[in-house]
Amino acid sequence: MASVTRHTGIDAGGVRRWLDAFGALVAERSTELTRLDAAIGDGDHGTNMDRGFKAVRERVLAGDEAKTVDQLWKETGMTLLSTVGGAAGPLYGTFFLRMAAPAGSRSELNAEELLAALTAGVEGVRRRGKAERGDKTMLDALEPALDALRTGLSNEQTVPAALDAAATAAEEGCRATIPLIARKGRASYLGERSRDHQDPGATSSAYLLRTLAEAVAGP
Ligand code: ADP
Ligand code: MG
Repeated sequence: MASVTRHTGIDAGGVRRWLDAFGALVAERSTELTRLDAAIGDGDHGTNMDRGFKAVRERVLAGDEAKTVDQLWKETGMTLLSTVGGAAGPLYGTFFLRMAAPAGSRSELNAEELLAALTAGVEGVRRRGKAERGDKTMLDALEPALDALRTGLSNEQTVPAALDAAATAAEEGCRATIPLIARKGRASYLGERSRDHQDPGATSSAYLLRTLAEAVAGP
């Protein structure tokens, strides 16, 4: 990873593009996310995510152009914690808050620092939700994505290429939740009946990775 780690990972402009694009995608797919959640939960994942990211776009992305990467992530996490209830609000809120910590007050992260931030974010979700891979949650998209990113960077892939592979791994992980029985969250109340449905949180997490890959690939 020696040479590739010096490459640019993401800068504040890239973080803004990511958060804005994810907010737009969540708004566009809100009905789909809610339909997935209606099948195995309480049918609010789309509206939860849309409410949270509308607030992020209004409160965090508007105004002050000089925000650093960690400031943008910290404010996003706080906004999600205060506007989104249920499981996803605290989990996505924790993801962004934890990503902010290793980022420091930089305006730009290199590849290694971006990997460290994402690793901290996913670890935060794992600890907060006490879930593991295979429990049919957002971690089934996030963890394979992180593995793919780490592997890609250690194989000297460029950051955009490694993030593209990470997004693809998240999409595969998301589809792989279909045959699983949920062991965490509301869907776990259904036991066997949670089988044959795609997890809504894994679906939004796959969108999260795809929009990150696109934001880093360029404006
Ligand atoms: P709620 O379940 O409170 O209605 P949402 O519908 O917004 O919240 O989000 C549901 C999603 O949250 C699930 O599809 C799952 O991916 C994720 N989730 C639920 N519980 C956990 C957990 N303990 N760990 C990780 N993810 C979880
Ligand atoms: Mg729900």
